Amino acid sequence: TSARDELGQLAHSFNRMAEKIVANIEELKNTDRLRRELIANISHDLRTPLASIRGYLETIQMKSEHLTNEEYEEYLRIISETAEGMQGLVEQLFELSKLEARQIKPHFEPFSIKDLIYDVAMKFQHVAEKKRMAIKISAPDGLPQVYADLRLMERALTNLVENAVNYTPPGGAVIICASRQNEQVLIEIMDTGRGIAPEDLPLVFERFFRGRKVHGENANGSGLGLAITKKIIELHQSNITVESKLNEGSKFYFGLQVWQGS
Ligand code: ADP
Repeated sequence: TSARDELGQLAHSFNRMAEKIVANIEELKNTDRLRRELIANISHDLRTPLASIRGYLETIQMKSEHLTNEEYEEYLRIISETAEGMQGLVEQLFELSKLEARQIKPHFEPFSIKDLIYDVAMKFQHVAEKKRMAIKISAPDGLPQVYADLRLMERALTNLVENAVNYTPPGGAVIICASRQNEQVLIEIMDTGRGIAPEDLPLVFERFFRGRKVHGENANGSGLGLAITKKIIELHQSNITVESKLNEGSKFYFGLQVWQGS
C-alpha cells in the first residue's frame, strides 16, 4: 500500500506539473521572439514523455492486480524519471527564453573564477569517479578575479563540464584551465571524449541541436544546454568557441573580463 500512496502522490504532483506545463506553453506561444519551429520542437519534446507517463499510469491503474511488484516498481521508476526529465526541459526552456527576451540582466561583480571552477568540478566528482574519469583543474595561484555574473557563470560552466563528462567515455579525462591573457581570463574546458563531427560543429550552439546518440550517453539531454551557455557568454560581451576532433576530444573556450578594481 505504500507503493500505492506513492502513486497517488506522484499522480497528484504530475497533474500539477502538467497544468504548469500547459500554462507555460501558452505563455511561450505569446512570446513573439520564439519561432514556430521552436514551438514544434517543444511540443514534441514534451508530448512524448507526457504520453509515456500517461501510458504507464493507465497500465498501473487498469491492470494493477495483475502486475508483479517488480513491474509495479519499474513503472513507477520510469514515470518518475520521465517526469524529472520533463521538469528539467521546462526549466531550461524558461531560462533560455528569459535570456533571449533579455529578461535576465547580468549582475556583474568581482569573484574568484578559480573557486567557481573548483565548486563546479566538485558537483561532477561523483559521476566522474563512477566513470573512472579524472577532472583536472589548472589555474595559477595569482589568477586575478573576474568581473562577471556569478550565478550565470556557474550555469555556463556547469553545462560545459556536464557535457564534457557526459560525452567522454570511461577512462577519459576532463581538463579545466583558467589563465590570464592580457585584460581577460581565458577559460578552457577540454575533454578526451568522442568529439564532434565537422559538419555538426557549426550547429552545436543551436537550440535543440543534438548530435547522434550513443548508447548510454546522456539519453535525456534537451539540446538546450549549449544554446543557454552561448547566450550567457554573450551577455558578458564575449564569445564562446569550440574546437573538436572526432574520437579525440573537444575544447570549448571563452574569455572573461579581469576585475580592474583593488
Ligand atoms: P544536450 O547535451 O542536452 O544534448 P547541448 O546543447 O549541451 O545539449 O549539446 C548539444 C550537442 O552537442 C550534444 O547533443 C552533443 O552531440 C554535442 N556536444 C556538446 N558538448 C560536447 C562534448 N564535450 N563532446 C562531444 N559532443 C558534445
